[in-house]
Amino acid sequence: MKLSELFKNEKLTLSFEVFPPKTDTAFESVKHATEEIAKLRPYFMSVTYGAGGGTDRYTLEIAKNIKERYGVPTLAHLTCVSSTRETVLSKIEAIKQAGIENVMALRGDLTPELEKSDRSGWAYKHAVDLIRELKESGADFCIGGACYPEIHPESQNQKEDILHLKEKVDAGCSFLTTQMFFDNNLLYNFLYKIRESGITVPIIPGIMPITNANQVERAIKLSGSFMPQRFKALVDKFGSNPAAMKQAGIAYATDQIIDLFANGIKNVHVYSMNKPDVAAAIQNNLSDILE
Ligand code: FAD
Repeated sequence: MKLSELFKNEKLTLSFEVFPPKTDTAFESVKHATEEIAKLRPYFMSVTYGAGGGTDRYTLEIAKNIKERYGVPTLAHLTCVSSTRETVLSKIEAIKQAGIENVMALRGDLTPELEKSDRSGWAYKHAVDLIRELKESGADFCIGGACYPEIHPESQNQKEDILHLKEKVDAGCSFLTTQMFFDNNLLYNFLYKIRESGITVPIIPGIMPITNANQVERAIKLSGSFMPQRFKALVDKFGSNPAAMKQAGIAYATDQIIDLFANGIKNVHVYSMNKPDVAAAIQNNLSDILE
């Protein structure tokens, strides 16, 4: 099922993200976790793609398994940074062969080595190049792209970032998923600006439940997200008590989602990080709200 079709629906929905294992030995446990999340019957599930392509085989294997065994629509992520055209074309063919209809087209992060390297010969410099390749593949994928309510760290300013976002949409993105954020006002402000720029595709806010104190630093480093005082106070108070921190983190994410639904957002994506218990807790908290 194409996500662009699902997004036409008026109901309030949750989707969950999982990530593939980094090693062969972790495969069975990760597969089990993704299946437990699939059993919650989310609107769709996305499967990330390891930076540098190390886990590309598992991305497809997991996406295919979820789709075929549980009937949950899947979105397979794909990155292109520093890849050759042959490699990307073979990955696109593999996605097609796996029967996956939805692809999240990403550039991928620049490692410090990649940042220093000569990029002039790269076949794909930005996600928009991958979106064009996917469009030209003739596979009729529903393509998603990433967007950044707090600006991508490499962008000089939001105006420039939104201009490049518009290029992705014009190239064929049917929807955009946001980077995590912890202050909904940043999202509302961003939505206002991108709608003004003429971007009309569905924007799916991405919510990360922070369930342990160690995650906080990693999340900020990864996303550069602003931590509201309300959130900092919660980590200060409960960070040293794992069970309390988990409960508080789930409550905070739930609260963010309720506010998004109350303000007209229909589809929220949860960065559930292979944690079925966290995904289930958020879904249960919203049981009477989700239709
Ligand atoms: P781009 O859209 O190419 O943007 C990157 C930067 O380049 C931005 O500053 C943008 O403004 C600028 N830019 C874009 N086009 C142009 C242009 N034509 N000329 C000049 N500048 C331009 N990473 C993974 O490795 N695997 C994943 O599965 C994964 N999933 C993600 C899912 C979501 C929802 C998000 C938000 C991020 C995800 N990432 C993933 C991280 C992502 O790869 C990084 O954030 C990466 O740094 C940028 O990827 P992008 O697709 O947004 O790049």
